Amino acid sequence: MDVFELITVQSVPQAVKAQARATTAQQGANIRFIAGGTNLADMKLNVERPAQLVDISQLPLAQIEETADGGMKLGALARNADVATHAAVQAKYPVLSQALLAGASPQIRNMATVGGNLLQKTRCMYYRDTAADCNKRNPGSGCAAIAGDNRMLAILGASEHCIATNPSDQNVALMALEARVHIEGVKGAKDIPIGEFYLVPGSTPQRETVLEPGDLITYVSLPPPAAAARGAYLKLRDRASYEFALASAAVVMRQGTGGSIDFVRVALGGVGTKPWRSPEAERALLGKPPSAANLQAAAEAALRQAHPQSENAFKVELAKRCLVHALRQVSQA
Ligand code: SF4
Repeated sequence: MDVFELITVQSVPQAVKAQARATTAQQGANIRFIAGGTNLADMKLNVERPAQLVDISQLPLAQIEETADGGMKLGALARNADVATHAAVQAKYPVLSQALLAGASPQIRNMATVGGNLLQKTRCMYYRDTAADCNKRNPGSGCAAIAGDNRMLAILGASEHCIATNPSDQNVALMALEARVHIEGVKGAKDIPIGEFYLVPGSTPQRETVLEPGDLITYVSLPPPAAAARGAYLKLRDRASYEFALASAAVVMRQGTGGSIDFVRVALGGVGTKPWRSPEAERALLGKPPSAANLQAAAEAALRQAHPQSENAFKVELAKRCLVHALRQVSQA
């Protein structure tokens, strides 16, 4: 591991200024923010080799609070465990609480932050193997996963340059909740709908988000929950704990009088190169009762554009079943 300089900052403007000198805010950044520290292992493995780490852990960004409009504000430094078990989160956004509790281990959830989880790196094994070709880690070197071990990798949003999945559970729920990511940057504050925050790999898989040098995520806002809507997160994985999703589904749904669905949000995890919102599934469900045939039609629509890799064709059917089961959980007979 290379030696890096640690810079501790006491204010948001200080943090922005310290990181604004970086060449990029993406993979390969020479100056990086660090908070919970769960990504230090990547640096020990030389997957990332920043010259400077900007320690933002002392900034006052750990709030978890309800807002006047009925929504919530989750500070970038709020711990995953604290968000998951917060009474208002559990009452208003059960899909988020369930997603967080499905992620990682209790020890990691106690350290991991909302902001760090938003930027969680892929678990593609070649990304962390510095002897392997990887366009995300080393642009232009190739992608060892395409002809290699790709059982865990993406079937939606992939390119010929990268097929890595976004591994987060939190981010799938935030996608279904239509969260906004609030940022302080060199040009001031801005907020970005989470649906516009992530990028598909295309020809630049090293670039995963719209963040620019100096951009510090300060908090995530959640809009007020849709009245009487029910939410659920279902994660399918190889073992019951401490494992990444093969497929997951975050759903929020409401049925109106007569039983037809009048509000629905669907996002998928474990299958996309970014947390994957499915407007196709939502369109297939809206205005219809949650019959078995309609839930299946929504799942078919969600996976219609899937392009499996050599080892993960099973994910297409798995993701469909995952979505149908999650929708059934929130539907009312
Ligand atoms: Fe690297 Fe992406 Fe290929 Fe994995 S899938 S080896 S992260 S380029």
